[in-house]
Amino acid sequence: MQNYIPHIGIVSLGCAKNLVDTQRLSSVLVAKGYIIENDYSKCDLVVVNTCGFINPAIEESLDTIGEALQYAKKVIVMGCLGTNEKLVLSKYPQVHKVFGPSVRASVVREIVKVVGEPPQDAVQKLNPSGILLTPPHYAYLKISEGCRHRCSFCIIPKLRGTQRSRDVDNIFLEAQDLVSRGVKELLIIAQDSSDYGFDLETKPNLYGLLDKLSTLNKWIRVHYVYPSKEADRIIDLMAEDKVLPYIDVPFQHANLDILKAMRRPGSMEKTIQTIERWRNIRPDIAIRSTFITGFPSESRSQFEELLDFIKEARLDRVGCFPYSEVDGADANNIGNFVDKEEREARAFELMEIQEQISFEKLQTRIGKQYDVIVDDVTDEGVAIARSKYEAPDVDGQIFIEDVKGVRAGDIIKVEITNADEHDMQAKLVKTLVSPINFKNIK
Ligand code: SF4
Repeated sequence: MQNYIPHIGIVSLGCAKNLVDTQRLSSVLVAKGYIIENDYSKCDLVVVNTCGFINPAIEESLDTIGEALQYAKKVIVMGCLGTNEKLVLSKYPQVHKVFGPSVRASVVREIVKVVGEPPQDAVQKLNPSGILLTPPHYAYLKISEGCRHRCSFCIIPKLRGTQRSRDVDNIFLEAQDLVSRGVKELLIIAQDSSDYGFDLETKPNLYGLLDKLSTLNKWIRVHYVYPSKEADRIIDLMAEDKVLPYIDVPFQHANLDILKAMRRPGSMEKTIQTIERWRNIRPDIAIRSTFITGFPSESRSQFEELLDFIKEARLDRVGCFPYSEVDGADANNIGNFVDKEEREARAFELMEIQEQISFEKLQTRIGKQYDVIVDDVTDEGVAIARSKYEAPDVDGQIFIEDVKGVRAGDIIKVEITNADEHDMQAKLVKTLVSPINFKNIK
């Protein structure tokens, strides 16, 4: 039918970096005139942008493909699990086509081949920064793709290749456009943000990039920072209020032998010293980290050393994964596997200790006032917000009742009235904190 506009469904799984890939694909398709449809049954084709990082993510991706196949006429698979075409087609031979990550143009060509081009008058002009799948007041800014490290538990370099940084001006233009359309919080992401620029001729670095982005006078939050010298430098930018006093730095473990077997830097002593140094420079810094329990050959005493580290470091936010022997991880060759149940039991034990620490730390925020960004307001008039110490999707939230006239994206001042090990309650102090001196927000 000449004027028929094909409906395309797109599912985004996995991390924020994959979400940015989905945003970019959606932007190209909408600009071409396609309709992005959430109801599979109304779709001419569904694209599943998969994750293949660890086994639970692989299972979720396969389940999602299966679900899409039940309703949609055609299904295209892309993303990290797309690098394992054999696995996808062995489970679902009826999948139309399988693509890996970072091949957007090929995916678009295949979509055009299968469902045809939309009519010319359906073409749309979008902002240069394209479609956002986050709420309009915050956005992920992906500064590079791939990774040059070779952590033995990780297959991402095999899935996404080695590090490829975007150039500074290209990133800054995107950030400027995001800010011009109302974005107030930029979340810096990469496989390793601290390695930004080493592969570019002019050798820009994360410090320089963040310093330039800070001229936009918005919240800048840095994620996926590898423990490195560059990580130290951005703490100085926090001391100048140029970036938020928040760092997401996966330490993964604390025992020296396990870290060596993981091909990761650091040791318990060094990491504790680093954290102390950061807290001296910016005492209110919020540190998020992730750890792996039950890494091959991890003994009870090595695990207990990790628990000692957790107790001493008193981190603000912690994520913990039981080791996953995903195909292609070099660490699988170590053998001497820890029982699956024991890996999970250790993760549970670690998180129990961390929850107590988080509870104690959040208690100290009761009675204090913070400016918070509102992510959502429920029908019951409860605002769900975050201060500069909480990232979206991964950290706790602040719930504020009776917030008449407050909307998502607003910056308001609140006083914390209660807290548990994850979230906080607060009362409204002032609505609409002027964004003028945005960075000097308390
Ligand atoms: S730095 Fe991160 S993405 Fe890179 S290999 Fe290590 S865990 Fe994987």
